[in-house]
Amino acid sequence: MADCIFCRIVAGTIPCTKVYEDEACLAFLDIGPVAPCHTLLIPRRHFETIADMPAAEASRLAAPLPRLARAVQAAAGAKGINVYQTNGKVAGQDVPHVHFHLIPRRAGDGLGFHWPAAKADFAVLAKQAEAIRAGLGA
Ligand code: AMP
Ligand code: ZN
Repeated sequence: MADCIFCRIVAGTIPCTKVYEDEACLAFLDIGPVAPCHTLLIPRRHFETIADMPAAEASRLAAPLPRLARAVQAAAGAKGINVYQTNGKVAGQDVPHVHFHLIPRRAGDGLGFHWPAAKADFAVLAKQAEAIRAGLGA
């Protein structure tokens, strides 16, 4: 995709601060870091969202995540890490090429996810689960 910034990074036509690569993936430091060592992991192939990926491609993208998470967290000297992934503008996706954010966390870093938890109604959950299972063809 010529007009995709992450495809251009994969092609080497714009620079990145690379930390990892294999046949299927590339990881580099985010240019707008919300924490030290904030890293992005992307597939070399262009997919807009996780839902667009064949399972085998998604597996190859997920494979380096544990090792990368350990290395990013250790390099940041952090005690924990968020793996965050956005799909669609409404979900906060600015770059329409699948990516995982690896964000090392520290106590008091001020980061967080607005999480207005409701109390579950089990009748509603049952209907929701039915809809999801139907979508899975289960
Ligand atoms: P999202 O909002 O989930 O789509 O995240 C996109 C991320 O890509 C943001 O955190 C940006 O700072 C980052 N980003 C955009 N352009 C570049 C670039 N050229 N190199 C590294 N990170 C980038
Ligand atoms: Zn792309």
